[in-house]
Amino acid sequence: MERSTTIITQNERETRRIANAFAEELAAEKPVCHVVSLEGELGAGKTTFMKGFAEGLHMKETMTSPTFIIFRVFDLARSVFKRLYHVDCYRLESYEDLRALGFEDILNDPKNLVVIEWGNMIREHLPQNTVHIAFDVLAHHARRITITS
Ligand code: ADP
Ligand code: MG
Repeated sequence: MERSTTIITQNERETRRIANAFAEELAAEKPVCHVVSLEGELGAGKTTFMKGFAEGLHMKETMTSPTFIIFRVFDLARSVFKRLYHVDCYRLESYEDLRALGFEDILNDPKNLVVIEWGNMIREHLPQNTVHIAFDVLAHHARRITITS
């Protein structure tokens, strides 16, 4: 059964805080999923969410958009997950480009936490239990964030 939660944030800091809490929950003892799809227009807050998410995983690295390199991988030292993959499908021309980089194996390993900006572009290739997070721009600084799992 699908479950949706909607949160409205009024600034970047609030979005990061939501993402931080979400990451802590996801990385708890028994993860409910390991693939997260971030969906929404340019500037909606996907990379901002990723920054807070990384903080929630106690990572030291600062998240930036991997737009031109498709994905980045980070080792996770103190987590039930071994690695974090930060993917950006914005410039992806076809799913085959990701497949050629070994993405199927990456997705199939539950020790990998895979967070995908523009995940809607490869929706049919993502596992059933993927958590979808939609970002809608309501006003200059207001964003509606809908988490569906
Ligand atoms: P995306 O990755 O979806 O293209 P970014 O996270 O890179 O978007 O950019 C979001 C921009 O919107 C940033 O400049 C950020 O400071 C700004 N912003 C304003 N309000 C918010 C908010 N409530 N949540 C997230 N970002 C916000
Ligand atoms: Mg981005």
